[in-house]
Amino acid sequence: MSNTVIVTGAAKGIGASIAREFAKAGYNVCINYNTSKKQAQDLQKELQKLGYSCMIYQADVANRKQVDEMIDEVLKRYKSIDVLVNNAGICEYKLFNDITNLDLQKMLDVSVIGTFNVTQSALKKYMINKKDGSIINISSIWGITGASMEVNYSISKSAIIGMSKALAKELGPSNITVNVVAPGMINTDMNAKFTKEELQEIEDSIPLCRIGNTDEVAGVVKFLASKEARYITGQVISPNGGMVI
Ligand code: NAP
Repeated sequence: MSNTVIVTGAAKGIGASIAREFAKAGYNVCINYNTSKKQAQDLQKELQKLGYSCMIYQADVANRKQVDEMIDEVLKRYKSIDVLVNNAGICEYKLFNDITNLDLQKMLDVSVIGTFNVTQSALKKYMINKKDGSIINISSIWGITGASMEVNYSISKSAIIGMSKALAKELGPSNITVNVVAPGMINTDMNAKFTKEELQEIEDSIPLCRIGNTDEVAGVVKFLASKEARYITGQVISPNGGMVI
């Protein structure tokens, strides 16, 4: 029986690359999406054409009922959840004084409550009894260093690191690893708002002199789920081109 991975927010960007990476490695892949239905369907077609096993599932990770139903459906279809990648996220650029309570709530609902929901549901319904598996949570360099104009985002991404470290300790005896991947600047829609000049400035500040690709994050995630990484838990790995050292 093949192993199964769930990747949240996997219709595009970093999540789609993670889904491709696990599909190539022979996993059954659940591609979760929220609003990007067409992109999720295209990715499913692409992977199925290559002979890979995958399903798509619409669920807002902030909605526990939808998340529970997704986990049930994955278990019904594939019978196991071996790897969970909490990738879904949103970002927002605002001066601290302009952030409303609603802005903050929305950010926390997707990133923090979303990660909590999917993780707890997968653990309760399957992983904790299996006593095996890997959870990889996607944070950001800004969750480590903090970013000006992104207090909202930085709060949510540092909370993911705290949650992951605590959970790594609690789940160690159950043989489940929990790690964080905290990317630097990666070429996705999330950075589409930057002008050419701003992107050049960002590249100039990166020791490897370029913005990263989604594949370069997906490879790290895949490694953390591999046999070779079974003794790694509670760690924050940051593919960032040397932007944060
Ligand atoms: P992206 O292309 O905008 O992808 C974000 C994904 O999150 C989308 O697929 C979106 O799904 C999903 N999502 C948002 N709200 C959701 C919800 N309520 N329920 C389910 N899915 C939801 O950006 P990305 O760069 O690939 O981001 C992926 C992750 O990497 C995020 O956690 C982000 O914070 C993190 N990250 C990105 C960078 C970077 O430079 N790009 C750097 C560090 C960390 P739908 O489109 O289906 O709504």
